[in-house]
Amino acid sequence: MNYLFKAVLTEKGWQENVRITVDGSGTITKICPDAAGGNAEYIHGYALPGFQNAHSHAFQYAMCGLAECFSPGNTPGNFWSWRDAMYRVALAISPEQMENIAAMLYAEMLKNGYTSVAEFHYVHHDVSGKPYGNLSEMGERLVAAAERAGIRITLLPVFYCKGGFGKAANIMQRRFISASYQDYLQLFDASSVSVKYYRNASIGAAAHSLRAVEERDLIAASLLSAVYPFHLHISEQQQEIEDCIAYYGQRPVEWLYNHVEVNENFHLIHATHLNDDEVKAVASSKAHVVLCPSTEGNLGDGRFRLKDFRNRKGRWSIGSDSQIGLGYLEELRILDYAQRIHSHRRDTFVTGTSGNSGFNALEESWFGGKKAMGTPIADTFFEVGAPLDAVVFDANWPLLATASEKNRCNTLVYSAQQRHILGTMTDGKWVVKDGIHFSEEEINRLFVRSLHEINMR
Ligand SMILES: [Zn+2]
Repeated sequence: MNYLFKAVLTEKGWQENVRITVDGSGTITKICPDAAGGNAEYIHGYALPGFQNAHSHAFQYAMCGLAECFSPGNTPGNFWSWRDAMYRVALAISPEQMENIAAMLYAEMLKNGYTSVAEFHYVHHDVSGKPYGNLSEMGERLVAAAERAGIRITLLPVFYCKGGFGKAANIMQRRFISASYQDYLQLFDASSVSVKYYRNASIGAAAHSLRAVEERDLIAASLLSAVYPFHLHISEQQQEIEDCIAYYGQRPVEWLYNHVEVNENFHLIHATHLNDDEVKAVASSKAHVVLCPSTEGNLGDGRFRLKDFRNRKGRWSIGSDSQIGLGYLEELRILDYAQRIHSHRRDTFVTGTSGNSGFNALEESWFGGKKAMGTPIADTFFEVGAPLDAVVFDANWPLLATASEKNRCNTLVYSAQQRHILGTMTDGKWVVKDGIHFSEEEINRLFVRSLHEINMR
């Protein structure tokens, strides 16, 4: 199969009239810039590598908009009240409903140009808290949902033991809990089997947070980072930092770097509240931070020190987390604007050698995202031997059609909307074309049915 794109983004800028040939499995076999059409399908669009979603809790899609009503003077209206609402949803979902919610969510991600998702998955057990016969029942449903939607998935079964620093798990957390590290390893093994059922699924490891895992267990689990991407929530909320200091006498990132050999396979989710030493430690360890700007804004978390981190060559990626926002470019905008509002400057993504904000944001977040998936790190956006995963923007959109090469990425990052996406490809096939997902009707119908059953909206 041959495609001729009007233009394709490379690390060196845009190339025009690029013909990409894929084999029967969607792997790129040839890339020819300045090519003639021949027998290729012509695509009047600008192709970017498919976006990488480095942090997702699929079930939380069911609760978007459900935690915004407050009783004045009565409800705390903070992260922790949101978490109570999230626990209620987590306690309500059956495996079939989990699959239907995730399939809908993943289809929506594809419509927004995401082609890979790292699923940070912690709703493991049945509603009574008892493990399913298949320990990875829920994880397997997420893999099935990814296959139905046509997105690549890295399943991250999450190790979760406690209800807070020095606290036993509470009854609301009963679906999440592994009694010991040995129990977690059994779950991890079962999850490793589940990902074999879909050729675009892979496995990674995760611990929920310092507050949810005992010291010695976290140190043991982190050794999985020698082989797998290892994801961990950290320093999201001020309260969490105060609790960590009270319990360990150290801040979360400080504790982590004092007890664990942190390497480039670590993906620290949020890392919102870092002091100078922590910014330095994370950047120099080559660990990644996963930023989730729409969720962090929605939950009132705070602002990550991106500029300081980037000045130290810190590595980062983007996640949709609570799913309150699914637009990748919107995430980049929110991230940048929070920095601008704080600093009164407009050069968040500038480096010593490149001043092209949109390109820098796309490039850095994409490579960080690939790493979060556990994919062998690519040198280039599109390369022979890799699958053709792409999001294609409509060349008929007048703003884009008239943008110079220099301003094309900036036009996309700072002003494109979902409606400007012509389509999304995974494995060299259109999964979304002209705004329609290939399995739209069925995925929508089953999602609506499941949400009516859950009856919480
Ligand atoms: Zn999260």
